[in-house]
Amino acid sequence: MNSEEINLVKEFLSTPKKIVITPHKNPDGDAVGSVLGLWHYLRQADHMATVIVPNDFPAFLKWMPGVEDIVIFEKNVDTASLLIDEAEIIFTLDFNDLSRIGGMQENFLKADAKFIMIDHHQEPEPYATVEYSDVSMSSTCEMVYNFIEFLGDRDRVNSDIASCLYAGILTDTGSFKFNSTTGRTHRVVADLIDKGADNSRIHNLIFDTYSADRLYLLGRALNNLVILKEYNTAYISLSRKDLEEFNFKKGDTEGFVNYGLSLDGICFAAIFIENGEDDFIKISLRSEGSFSVNEFARAHFNGGGHINAAGGRSDLPMDDTIAKFTSLLDQYKNELNQ
Ligand code: 5GP
Ligand code: MN
Repeated sequence: MNSEEINLVKEFLSTPKKIVITPHKNPDGDAVGSVLGLWHYLRQADHMATVIVPNDFPAFLKWMPGVEDIVIFEKNVDTASLLIDEAEIIFTLDFNDLSRIGGMQENFLKADAKFIMIDHHQEPEPYATVEYSDVSMSSTCEMVYNFIEFLGDRDRVNSDIASCLYAGILTDTGSFKFNSTTGRTHRVVADLIDKGADNSRIHNLIFDTYSADRLYLLGRALNNLVILKEYNTAYISLSRKDLEEFNFKKGDTEGFVNYGLSLDGICFAAIFIENGEDDFIKISLRSEGSFSVNEFARAHFNGGGHINAAGGRSDLPMDDTIAKFTSLLDQYKNELNQ
């Protein structure tokens, strides 16, 4: 953010305001961590802030301080709509295109509020009065830390803020291993630990709380893994039947796509999930190196994201979706063999 934008935000926040903070649909660790981290910060300054998420999120994120005060749009449309109508400022975090919030988009389009975007995805849509967009950032949580620092309030980062932001940086960097993780990321994380984020406990709460069903579902996913050596690609598919067999709950498949990339030589991994809740197949894509899954998702599967992590959807049945995916690979053969 430049100094003009910082001053504008300072002016907006100089008196208590009605504020709504929203992440993308199907919020992940970075989405929930960043909205709650910012929420704790704004509440300290006496703003009337509410976090509204488009839909529910996984149980392994529900330990975060403040989750009980989150309004879930899908379950509380009337309350949420009123809050949005009355908001003076709307923060949109961890997304940059209003289509990413599903049905809530209509409420936002007719809202009277000023929009402030904090986000690290590619190609932001121009809807925000203040756009803090930086694709080089590890996570939106790291950006919320910067945002608080820009406003001169690093001293206000307490253990609640620190825990939420730590959780989002942890999940969005794949436990500090993706190449978006910088020295600065580690310095921010060090400060968050100093300010009260219990790193070991948070790691445990997020990664080591599998149900038996979830671990067996992972077993099924690995059984379903297909390796296409010619294209250095691996993919997993999970049918509605697979999910039902293991009592699928939201978030159970989180991280499964990464197992494809753990294979030696594989630089492109995908997972196709027919979850029954959505009427389309949800696709997650990951890569190592220069192959851009963001571009692949945008071009072929109505999605987007980052160079090495993106998602999209397919309205075709599973077999046809996989046939489409595999037939696309030939045109990327050179890139996938670098
Ligand atoms: P995931 O595969 O974990 O759902 O998402 C990976 C990354 O891609 C995240 O940064 C997420 O925000 C983005 N992403 C996932 N699905 C979509 C989608 O349908 N559209 C867009 N534009 N981005 C997506
Ligand atoms: Mn993120």
